Amino acid sequence: MFFTSIIGHEFQKEAIRRASLENRVSHAYLFFGPDGVGKKLVAIEFARILNCIHLSDRIAEKKLETNPCDCISCKKIKKGIHPDVFLIEYGGIKDIKVDQIREEVEDRLYFKPFEGRFKVAIVDEAHRMNLNAQNAFLKTLEEPPSDSVIILITSQPQVLLPTIRSRCQLFEFKPLSQDVIVEEIIKRKKLSHDEAILAARLSGGSLGKALSLDQDLLSERKEIIMKLSNINPNSASQVLNFVESLPKGSSSQDVNKLMFIFYIISLWLRDVVLLKIGFSTDFLSNRDLIPIVSKLADSWSMDNVLDKLKFLEKAWYEAFRGNVNKQIMLENLVLKITE
Ligand SMILES: [Zn+2]
Repeated sequence: MFFTSIIGHEFQKEAIRRASLENRVSHAYLFFGPDGVGKKLVAIEFARILNCIHLSDRIAEKKLETNPCDCISCKKIKKGIHPDVFLIEYGGIKDIKVDQIREEVEDRLYFKPFEGRFKVAIVDEAHRMNLNAQNAFLKTLEEPPSDSVIILITSQPQVLLPTIRSRCQLFEFKPLSQDVIVEEIIKRKKLSHDEAILAARLSGGSLGKALSLDQDLLSERKEIIMKLSNINPNSASQVLNFVESLPKGSSSQDVNKLMFIFYIISLWLRDVVLLKIGFSTDFLSNRDLIPIVSKLADSWSMDNVLDKLKFLEKAWYEAFRGNVNKQIMLENLVLKITE
């Protein structure tokens, strides 16, 4: 069966099923939405439906749901070795250049399909194409080779030229609901219900991210909150020691780590706000830290917490602009949060 292993996105899945069965597939699609929600999985499954050797039977029967398909084409696409389906990934490359787009996408699309009905090019992180590459790509979109389907995937559609966006059929992928993520985490990982809720909240609606959060990261969160809530802002050494332990580099590993820490702090401050406005502890993200959160909710005024959140937001914005002195910014942030 198609799409059975993909969680959520019912509307998109149904639209793809129908377009495939009714033989009205567009030449280009833009799948956009947050990272880790399943855009690439849906794109690969789409390629599988289009090239499955049983597709014409299914069109005749007008239904896609059959027994799990293990035809040779479906198998090859699953393994990533089908000659007509290419997934182009540019992990880590900031700037996809025009030559890469020509060689890896355009040149390959202009051949007739070798085995399947369609050539399918899936370009992940399409926003990494530089302006020249996007312009070159636009030409392909204006005169798409026959029997070809292009699927662009991005979390930043605003970075793509409006003319690219307007030539694609747009599919927006929303973050998955917390309940769906919690259910999946419990099915697939050895986490308790409370830990699963926490992972879901920390993931911002991305199942991929939620599944990558293990017990170590969840414990690290606990440690960070406990340390922060014990810092005396009048003790320079305590503040500096904590800042010392934070990642300040510009590698993607450091940046992601710092983003994770900021996110932890924001969820923790939000927990304090929730208690202050009268929500029960069931609504907290950090349910294993209720005594700490309650104590702060009693001692901080509402204005104070909202000020901290505002400061955090500003620091968050500055931290990822790249030209800020992170040491000073983080010292100020820790002082503000612990005062
Ligand atoms: Zn098949």
